Amino acid sequence: MPLHLPPLTRRTFLRRSLAATASLLTFPSLRAAESSADPDRWALLSDTHIAADRAAILRTVNMTEHLEAAVKGVRALASRPAGVFVNGDCAVLKGLAEDYATFSTLITPLREAGLPIHLTLGNHDDRDIFRTSLKAAIPAAPPLVSKHVSIVEGARANWFLLDSLDEVNKTPGLLGDEQRAWLAKALDANTAKPALVMVHHNPISGTPEKKGALTDADELLAVLLPRRNVKALFFGHTHTWRFAEKDGLHLVNLPAVAYSFAATEVTGWVDAKLSEKGATLTLHAHDTRHAAHGKTTEIAWRAA
Ligand SMILES: [Zn+2]
Repeated sequence: MPLHLPPLTRRTFLRRSLAATASLLTFPSLRAAESSADPDRWALLSDTHIAADRAAILRTVNMTEHLEAAVKGVRALASRPAGVFVNGDCAVLKGLAEDYATFSTLITPLREAGLPIHLTLGNHDDRDIFRTSLKAAIPAAPPLVSKHVSIVEGARANWFLLDSLDEVNKTPGLLGDEQRAWLAKALDANTAKPALVMVHHNPISGTPEKKGALTDADELLAVLLPRRNVKALFFGHTHTWRFAEKDGLHLVNLPAVAYSFAATEVTGWVDAKLSEKGATLTLHAHDTRHAAHGKTTEIAWRAA
């Protein structure tokens, strides 16, 4: 089960606000929290790489500042999203309890703004520590014990969240037979709405001769491609913002919130608006001068 952090209630919010010296500054967000959410809007974040130390810098980026900017951006949207996804690598390298403590604090303003948050695991997370650190968010009866998987039901689509963490702090990812069997069954049991699948590791590579980092990518695609209710697969891990397509299935590589591996690549997060026929994806880059910042990409769902 990915972690699902419910929004903070008004009571909790007020208690926290009263304790905070800057409480007046946070009241506009309380009003936003009380307005109804846009059921078709979702904020897509990936690869936040938060370290215990807020001052930590990797590849010239202060990861805390980048996540804070993303959180601020999500809260500033004209309408409140139905939910926020953070698609793995929440922690910087090894998934330490201290990393999750900082991560948890940094995403609290989203919960205060009334947003539910759905988390998946990446190769820089530690499943056991993740579960212990954010214990309150773990449901009593997860579909699988060995991996964090779940379904987030949306108005226009259902999100299927997978767990490709294999070994902590090792690059490759693996879903495994049990998870793929669960996914196939879950997809077949939920055909009324388009299915959108989210996994941390990339099933394909930007370089044609190289394979993606997901070891059982072929087996995953063998589950997804023939099931025409599956319209898109969202992933992270590469820290690049890319679109590809296979038999009409959209393969969307979400950018990292944290840092990129090449100077030309953009970092940021994505504002997704779903419609009956597809999705509109708008990039919010940290570098607002980057050519991709604010650019919108439309993807259309393949026929059922
Ligand atoms: Zn990453």
